[in-house]
Order: sequence, then structure tokens, then C-alpha cells
Amino acid sequence: MNTRIKQTDLELIQGDITKAEVDAIVNAANSELIGGGGVDGAIRRAGGAVIENVCAEIRKREGGCPTGKAVITPGGDLYAKYVIHTVGPVWEGGNSDEAELLASCYQESLRLAVENSIQSIAFPSISTGIYGYPTEKAAVVALTSVKDFVMQNNTAPAIIQFILFDAATNNCYVDALWSVF
Ligand code: ADP
Repeated sequence: MNTRIKQTDLELIQGDITKAEVDAIVNAANSELIGGGGVDGAIRRAGGAVIENVCAEIRKREGGCPTGKAVITPGGDLYAKYVIHTVGPVWEGGNSDEAELLASCYQESLRLAVENSIQSIAFPSISTGIYGYPTEKAAVVALTSVKDFVMQNNTAPAIIQFILFDAATNNCYVDALWSVF
């Protein structure tokens, strides 16, 4: 399902983000930038050693990546030239700034994308796996945050995709698209 925000195409796709033919894919990382399960493990397996090598440099230099922030590495063996690693919040019931931190993940990732002249970017559903954020709520935050970024900035990627791994997650994002747009 597609919609348009100013000059940007926003696309919801069910599939595997490691296969995305875009300039950059976004990883739902952890703050240590150490390989995990879920989408992080899949991206690292498909991208190869360069991702861990550059994450190790960032770890050494900056101590990792705080929740709500993002860092960039090469994509290695992926089609995508870059991986943007962002750290979503762990769901703790909703009163620990989870929504603000999740919105920040999308904003910071898009800011890094613009800084690196990335024209097309694909996001997974950040925080809704191991980190336990309810998907219906996360979908509204994700789409609102992306919409706000494109509305508020003069430059944005021409294509922003959400690549949702399973049908239930995809359905939540389709429903959220109706409510946000
Ligand atoms: P988090 O720790 O931020 O919750 P997870 O990796 O556990 O991150 O899950 C985030 C989302 O990514 C979940 O919806 C999960 O189903 C999805 N996911 C897992 N593997 C892939 C993949 N290869 N492509 C796209 N999404 C994926």
C-alpha cells in the first residue's frame, strides 16, 4: 500500500528487509551495537563482517548508541549501500517516554539519511519484536513520525518503505496509515 507526502513516496510492503533494493536499510539494533536476534541478526548475516567491524569502531569511539539515536555503517554484502542502526525503546507499559523515543528513532534515522544523500530507505517495525512495543501503537508512532519529518524538512528521501515481516504487522501498519493520513 502506497501514499505520498510532498515529494516522498511512502510504501508499506510485507517482506524481508535484507532483500530491499534501496540505498539504506534501518536496523532495530541494541545500544551496545552487538549482534542480536530478530531483524538485527538477519541484517548482520546478510551484510557480513564489515557491519560488525564498523559497529566495533563506533562502540570503541562512542560507547554504543543511546535509545532513540542512530548510527550508520556500510551495508557490506547487502544490496543497500548503508545500514542505519537505531535503538528502539523497550516497552515498559507506556509511561517511560516510549512513544517519544520511538518517534526519535525514525527522525534520527531520516536525518542521517539526508546527511548521507540517501534517496531511498527501508524501515522495519522497530521495537515490536523482542522489545515488546504493541504493534498497533508502534505503527501509529512510526507513520506519524515519518510524516512529520517529511512535512517539516525541505529535504527527505524520495522513497521511504516500511518492510513488515509478517501479515499481522503489515495489517497494523495498513490500519495506522488510514488513521494517520
Ligand atoms: P526489537 O528488538 O526492536 O523489538 P526485533 O528484531 O525483535 O526488534 O523485531 C522488530 C521487527 O522486525 C519485528 O516485527 C520482527 O518480526 C521484524 N523482523 C524480523 N526479521 C525481519 C526481516 N528479515 N525483515 C523485516 N522485518 C523483520
